[in-house]
Amino acid sequence: MTGLELETIRHAYGDHRAVDDVSLAVGPGELVCLLGPSGCGKTTTLRIAAGLENPTGGRVILDGAVVAGAGVLVPPERRNVGFLFQDYALFPHLDVAANVEFGLTALPRAERRRRAMEMLEQVGMAAFAGAWPHQLSGGQQQRVALARALAPGPRLMLLDEPFSGLDKRLRDRIRDDTLHLLKASHVSTLMVTHDPEEAMFMADRIAVMRKGRIMQLGTPAELYGRPADPFVASFFGEVNVVEAQALSGRVTTPLGPWPCPGLADGEAAEVLVRPEGITLAEDAAGPGQVLAARLLGRSSLVHLRLDWPGHAPVHLHVRLSGRPPPPEGTRVALTIDPAQVFVFPAGEE
Ligand code: ATP
Repeated sequence: MTGLELETIRHAYGDHRAVDDVSLAVGPGELVCLLGPSGCGKTTTLRIAAGLENPTGGRVILDGAVVAGAGVLVPPERRNVGFLFQDYALFPHLDVAANVEFGLTALPRAERRRRAMEMLEQVGMAAFAGAWPHQLSGGQQQRVALARALAPGPRLMLLDEPFSGLDKRLRDRIRDDTLHLLKASHVSTLMVTHDPEEAMFMADRIAVMRKGRIMQLGTPAELYGRPADPFVASFFGEVNVVEAQALSGRVTTPLGPWPCPGLADGEAAEVLVRPEGITLAEDAAGPGQVLAARLLGRSSLVHLRLDWPGHAPVHLHVRLSGRPPPPEGTRVALTIDPAQVFVFPAGEE
């Protein structure tokens, strides 16, 4: 197939397994994100795809040809891969146009300039063709770096935290532009990020990594809506955790009973409820009481005490959008969206 295939990739630094049996395919024109906390092996996986690191085991296949593994190691410069990293790494001694022309040596000189200008046009930097890298802002440098990476028409783009050096507003814009340009180029892309929102914004599919392994691979909607374990569920945003015990295929919690297929009677369970999965209605006889409420801009966070007769009260966070939160002390009734509740055996993480 075309695109990138990583087949049971392993990589160790001494005894430390940085990448442990990672298998992943990036289809033609697809954008896949490697998402996970610091040190989980994302960058090592990307470097292996690039050819900057030789895997201890497994194979890397690009457009159907093995480029690493089984005694083969094709160097990065012969893989026809484009890179975009956090530090834009433009050549300081070359102007903007010459930076973009750098990877176009296969083309005649006049053609190189034409292609470079076409790419600069696409990233909105044509007016800066004669400028030097140090005269550009971080966002402008990143646009030029993207133009340079895409100019030779790579068969794979590798992006490592490409927007993390930019401030938030600029980051949102450049991220959006980059996504549209990558999609318009129909290039297969593997991108590393530790930011779940960024992964959901950019990716067709996300591989959530932890300790060198892929914990779950799926579309953003699959990972958010059907997380495989508590780690994945909580990686996409804070969750409330309520402890419970299974009985006859159900757990009973102050938020109601929930099915827990596969859990034996008496088995301890963790019930995860997303703060955005709870809605509140003022009700003088309701079981909840607002302890504090903070307006956070587009949404508010409510700290709630939930009474549960015969048990200690439970502290919950509730995220409300679109209207001011109820004032402190208000008694409320709760409605729970079952799609935002996940039951797992306790201690899975
Ligand atoms: P970060 O976002 O912090 O870069 P990451 O998920 O990209 O994290 P890697 O950089 O791939 O993780 O590192 C995975 C593990 O391998 C870490 O424990 C790291 O300390 C270790 N590691 C990475 N590079 C080397 C190296 N050259 N020598 C020894 N250990 C390394």
